[in-house]
Amino acid sequence: MHFDIIIIGGAIVGSSVAWYLREEGFAGSIGLVERDASFRHSATALSCASIRQQFSIAENIRLSQFTLGLFRRLREEFGTDADIGFRENGYLILAGAAGADTLRANHQVQSGEGADIVLEDAAALAARFPWLATEGLALGALGLSGEGWFDAHQLLALFRKGLRARDVAFLPGEVVSIERQAGRIAAVGMADGTRIGAGAVVNAAGPNAGQVAALAGVQLPVEPRKRSVFVFEARERFEDMPLIVDPTGVYVRPEGSVYICGGAEDEGLEAAADPRDFEPEWPLFEESIWPVLAARIPAFEAIKPTRAWAGHYDFNTLDQNAVIGGHPDVENLYLCNGFSGHGLQQAPAAGRAIAELVVHGGYRTIDCSAFGYERIAQGRPYRELNVI
Ligand SMILES: Cc1cc2nc3c(=O)[nH]c(=O)nc-3n(C[C@H](O)[C@H](O)[C@H](O)COP(=O)(O)OP(=O)(O)OC[C@H]3O[C@@H](n4cnc5c(N)ncnc54)[C@H](O)[C@@H]3O)c2cc1C
Repeated sequence: MHFDIIIIGGAIVGSSVAWYLREEGFAGSIGLVERDASFRHSATALSCASIRQQFSIAENIRLSQFTLGLFRRLREEFGTDADIGFRENGYLILAGAAGADTLRANHQVQSGEGADIVLEDAAALAARFPWLATEGLALGALGLSGEGWFDAHQLLALFRKGLRARDVAFLPGEVVSIERQAGRIAAVGMADGTRIGAGAVVNAAGPNAGQVAALAGVQLPVEPRKRSVFVFEARERFEDMPLIVDPTGVYVRPEGSVYICGGAEDEGLEAAADPRDFEPEWPLFEESIWPVLAARIPAFEAIKPTRAWAGHYDFNTLDQNAVIGGHPDVENLYLCNGFSGHGLQQAPAAGRAIAELVVHGGYRTIDCSAFGYERIAQGRPYRELNVI
């Protein structure tokens, strides 16, 4: 068996790479390998499925804006019945005195990229959202359009359905070895012993990307980090509520008739997650999240937590930013990893970027050079400040 391109990981990133390879005119054979067709434990399925423009660096804004454009043209791209339930309620990122300058600096970058974000002081926020307690707040950045949330399962389903008609082979199974010959990858080995020859390989293995890279002898600082998401009911319904990020890092947003929240993990103290551990950390809700919510939105003093889930961030320990592009020493290995909590919204643009590299030998839509592996090799972080 041989494929011109083998993509390891068939969730949102791998599927997007395959989709845009065909969009860009790639005529060779494509094998999309996935070890769990249910996607039960994939970051894609377990994410909060939100999209924002509020990043600190321009390239991240551009990647999300590309996806926003795709959302706006969803039916042209995927057919008239395509629907991902995009709710454009915005993000509201709050800052106390200590974080206000950062919010202002980010806002300048965002405005330069055409993002529709306003900065409001505590009084303006209180007038706009009367249910919000503004004690301790200096500033809030609110997305007036282009930000919100959607159905990740539907988005993935649209890509995968489209791939069936685009002659992409779905290969069930787990890649457990990667065969290198000189400076190239020759084949991947599957858990059942099958060897599949490869013209090129794309690592789209999400939180497992560091392990997959290691199979090829490549060091990639991407590891799983557990993130718990809690669901609660409240008596009050706030139809206009954006996704709110408190200065403590705690976030909350509506999800249909309930609310979801999280964001109490301490990145500085935590270690890599056990890849099999998907148990939500309930003490985070009791001890850290609920007190913050009750103080920020007094109506949330009386809420009823109903369930929770945990997923794994594809966490880049160097700078919490994506690693996109070819590997400098393994010429037919491409990386599309390490999105660190913002990969769902960036997957379409990142997939397109990889496709452009493969087909045209360079970027055409968004210059992703800043996300290249070279910075990893040099230990030179390219830091995103707005990691939620
Ligand atoms: C709790 C949580 C909330 C999040 N919220 C958001 C959000 O609001 N907005 C946002 O943009 N992003 C969010 N993210 C991040 C986002 O979900 C991820 O960045 C994105 O889904 C990564 O996609 P992926 O396809 O690379 O990884 P995954 O979805 O994890 O897919 C990787 C796939 O590779 C497969 N695989 C791995 N190794 C192998 C192998 N050796 N052989 C074969 N198959 C393999 C896995 O089975 C898996 O299906 C969140 C993540 C979590 C955990």
